[in-house]
Amino acid sequence: MAYKRSYWIGFDLGGTKMLAAIFNDRFEIVARKRRRIKLGQAATPGVAQMIDIIGEVMERAQIEPEEIAGAGVAVPGPVDPRRGIVIEMPNLDWRELALGELLGAELKCPVHILNDVDAGTYGEYRFGAGRGGRCVLGVFPGTGIGGGCVYEGNLLQGSSRTCMEIGHIRVMPNGPLCGCGGRGCLEAVASRLAISQAVAAAAYRGEAPTILREVGTNIREIRSKVLAQAATAGDKAVVEILEDAARWLGIGVAAAINLVDPDVIVLGGGLVEALPELFLRGVRESAESHAMRSFQGTFRIAVAELGDDASAKGAAAWAHHREVVAK
Ligand SMILES: [Zn+2]
Repeated sequence: MAYKRSYWIGFDLGGTKMLAAIFNDRFEIVARKRRRIKLGQAATPGVAQMIDIIGEVMERAQIEPEEIAGAGVAVPGPVDPRRGIVIEMPNLDWRELALGELLGAELKCPVHILNDVDAGTYGEYRFGAGRGGRCVLGVFPGTGIGGGCVYEGNLLQGSSRTCMEIGHIRVMPNGPLCGCGGRGCLEAVASRLAISQAVAAAAYRGEAPTILREVGTNIREIRSKVLAQAATAGDKAVVEILEDAARWLGIGVAAAINLVDPDVIVLGGGLVEALPELFLRGVRESAESHAMRSFQGTFRIAVAELGDDASAKGAAAWAHHREVVAK
């Protein structure tokens, strides 16, 4: 029996969970499976776990290996997309891992490795809030702040590795220490981690009653949902901290606007999706006032639409783009 290769695998290696999904050639999801990642494991068992879950999801969808046209894998860290190499992935202790080659040998199809924020931005460009944009900038604040850019249908991926590191634009000389070792990066003042830190201090001072009542002062517990709850309840200090973060984000976005002149900026991630109005308004006002005058009024800002599936769907569609459209 001759098979037609018309299905695409989208894989999101996530932070703590991995998601394997199969899409048909219209990029409708056929089957999906999410599983907790065993953190800190070496490359061999990690890759074996990936292959295992892909096998399960194919079985669930009753799809044969011969029907898979290609796979896209979204990785939460820097990658070299041309060589299919994961440069570094701290949560799994992976370094310089030829993931594309390893998976390709098992799956017997072309495998494209890309950064998860790039995958999410590409997904939003193809299917979500950035549809039809000529230049789409994706900004995803979370533990850090990730950035991606699709320009005329192609991801900007740098010459040797993932780029668009909007989180590490220096917005405050000699500002707070950043995870990258620098000081005053956008991420150090406006990521969810930075917000949670400031909110924990406010709760400790007795200025954030909802936070104190619900989760106390433990930064780890101050997540998007409770931040949104406190903002809605009117905890003044929390609202101020969030608005401040949105203003900083707008300053970083303005720097990117000056460089790539996007028509759409897609804001995503749990915190933005929990408080879309606050972030849309704050980032828009700040970006408008900090971008060069000639760019003011030339862009729109939208909230991401694809939610948890964005990276897997974007990765699958990117594999399709590279194998079918760009060839
Ligand atoms: Zn940094």
